[in-house]
Amino acid sequence: LPNQSSPIKHFALDIGGTLSKLVYFVQNNSHNNNNNNNTSTSTIPSSSTTTQNELGGKLHFIKFQTKNIEDCLNFIIDNKLHLEDGKPKDVRVTGGGAYKYADLFNEKLGCRLIKEDEMHCLIVGTNFLLNNIQRESYTYSPTPNAITPREFVDKVVLQIGSGVSVIKVDSETSFQRVDGTSLGGGTFWGLCSLLTGVTDFDEMLEMTKNGHSNNVDLVVGDIYGTDYSKIGLSSETIASSFGKIIYQSSTEQSSDSSDGNNNNKQQFRKEDIAQSLLKMVSNNIGQIAYLNSQRYGLNKIYFGGFFIRDHPNTMQRISFAIDFWSKGKTKAMFLVHDGYLGALGAFLAPNE
Ligand code: ADP
Repeated sequence: LPNQSSPIKHFALDIGGTLSKLVYFVQNNSHNNNNNNNTSTSTIPSSSTTTQNELGGKLHFIKFQTKNIEDCLNFIIDNKLHLEDGKPKDVRVTGGGAYKYADLFNEKLGCRLIKEDEMHCLIVGTNFLLNNIQRESYTYSPTPNAITPREFVDKVVLQIGSGVSVIKVDSETSFQRVDGTSLGGGTFWGLCSLLTGVTDFDEMLEMTKNGHSNNVDLVVGDIYGTDYSKIGLSSETIASSFGKIIYQSSTEQSSDSSDGNNNNKQQFRKEDIAQSLLKMVSNNIGQIAYLNSQRYGLNKIYFGGFFIRDHPNTMQRISFAIDFWSKGKTKAMFLVHDGYLGALGAFLAPNE
């Protein structure tokens, strides 16, 4: 942390395609501790370095929609996060917005924006959490099973944001983005909104709980009438996400030829559609994660990004996918601060 006079406030940002994540530190004794209901806080771990023990405070996490970047700027201004002794200070920003909004930051805050590399921040943030925060990582089960690796391990990290990045991590300092897919959180959000008319992400996730994706997905049982045990596929395995829509539509059309263009979509429940979409995106990401872990011989797979955000349904789907593809040999690992890995990495970036 930089040397600052009390009260210490320090912050960094990860401005993504969908969300802007802000991590800020406020010293314990600060009178101006702006904790509110929108922020989640995390006590800075007692660390072996004197600097952090002396500072003693809390990290706060807050997100804004990137399309409303002004809200984020106003939050910074209202809380005077950008000022040190009354003067604008340098601001560390990662994500695409570090480029896109550099001028806006300068204009609005008078701050110099320091661009931090996105992948670097992501891994720095992840490693920091794994090495310092008790119970940061866990596997999903209905009764969560916390695992706390205290030492650094080789791993594959998947960042599920608007899109997905796959990063192979070989050591504390050596990592590489090895894969990615455009079918990510933005895909789920966008398609779900298009198909159900619901725009709120949390409402979508709620809907998935009451859905039966088999009403829209074609499963092995629909095709075989039974399971296909010879190649290890149960009758419930999804053979084609959304495959039943056209199947049912064409059945309807042939029995009702008077209106070939009738709006068949109406007959599908939005809960079923939402659940099918969640499974489609999660299974696909799980498969890519597993294949990359095999490609590089790494057995630990961590998932971060705001798409997960502690949602049991999402974690259950991803865990199922990893279990399925690895035949139970590998477990998906999740992180408590999943949405803030990059922002935390930018926060921790070394001073120039
Ligand atoms: P990016 O850095 O690309 O913006 P994030 O890691 O912030 O990516 O994740 C964005 C994704 O998080 C969205 O596409 C959506 O799937 C998911 N998400 C979870 N909660 C929310 C929310 N409250 N608002 C918007 N998106 C959310």
